[in-house]
Amino acid sequence: MPIADPERPVYSLVVPIFNEEAVLPILLHRLDTLLPKLDGPAEVIIVDDGSRDAGSIVAAARARDDSRFRYLALSRNFGHQVAITAGMDVARGDAVIVMDADLQDPPEIVLRLAETWRQGHEIVYAQRLSRQGETRFKRLTARLFYGLLRRLTAVDIPENVGDFRLVDRKAIDAFKAMPERDRFVRGMFGWMGFRQAAVPYHREPRAAGETHYPLGKMIRLAFDGIVSFSDVPLRLALWLGTGVSAAALLFGGWVVWEAMHQAGFVAGWASTVVLLSLLSGVNLLMTGIVGLYVGRIHAEVKNRPLYVVGRAVGFERDEAASTD
Ligand code: UDP
Ligand code: MG
Repeated sequence: MPIADPERPVYSLVVPIFNEEAVLPILLHRLDTLLPKLDGPAEVIIVDDGSRDAGSIVAAARARDDSRFRYLALSRNFGHQVAITAGMDVARGDAVIVMDADLQDPPEIVLRLAETWRQGHEIVYAQRLSRQGETRFKRLTARLFYGLLRRLTAVDIPENVGDFRLVDRKAIDAFKAMPERDRFVRGMFGWMGFRQAAVPYHREPRAAGETHYPLGKMIRLAFDGIVSFSDVPLRLALWLGTGVSAAALLFGGWVVWEAMHQAGFVAGWASTVVLLSLLSGVNLLMTGIVGLYVGRIHAEVKNRPLYVVGRAVGFERDEAASTD
């Protein structure tokens, strides 16, 4: 039996960075203030999601000089959700906290997350009471998306909750056993159950730099969320097909009736065109939806690793410790 490592952290903070050189110094400073206030030893895992700026150098240097920090660089930009997965994979703490690097998730809230965890909750998510510095468009689309998601899925995915949360070791281990490629992390934790609790907070504007979630990435995240947690779109084909077939049957009956009872019945060019285009439209739409799911099956079947690590700093220390 290995002797329990007294150096093993109780808390692991997972912070993904993607071109965050502007906020990194402020972030490190705020973390320096936060870490001593936690009621146990903590490690910070900075996951570099393919940054192409000086942020990589700053973060790696910190991991080299400060034993509380570790730096894991993915070999390219794999996306936010994969980056936090990579961080959770290497985290050693009893509680893992995921937070954004841009200080929109104020580090001080971590103390309250930890307190709630100590009271016996396994997943403690931070819930946004307000979202300063976010455009009305972002707020509106978020509202619509979560409304739709809740209607389409059976999983309880709380509203106004991002990935800022504290997760107990038990839930992290369950999370690691979920190998899916389409990662909608907040949905996966919702699916898991456990005792969950919310800590309300006011989301702040970005400390510096700009968002790396442009509309395209937001749409992709929204699709991932819906497609990996709901098969309602697939069942849509059934309802649409039934409706359209019923309409076609009625219309066909009417056409036959007219043709039999009305000499020289040739009218109907317009209805043919309308029907044809409607049906092929519905057909294409449904093929597209099926394609969406098939594409994801394809990605799962290839069974590639979720990410590739390019460089790791600060991990040698554990190896040195474990060979002692
Ligand atoms: N991020 C990442 N990979 C990406 C995009 C973003 O690791 O491809 C990180 C980013 O550095 C930040 C967090 O994810 O720490 C949230 O991103 P951002 O603040 O740009 O999103 P927003 O808050 O605007 O939704
Ligand atoms: Mg942000």
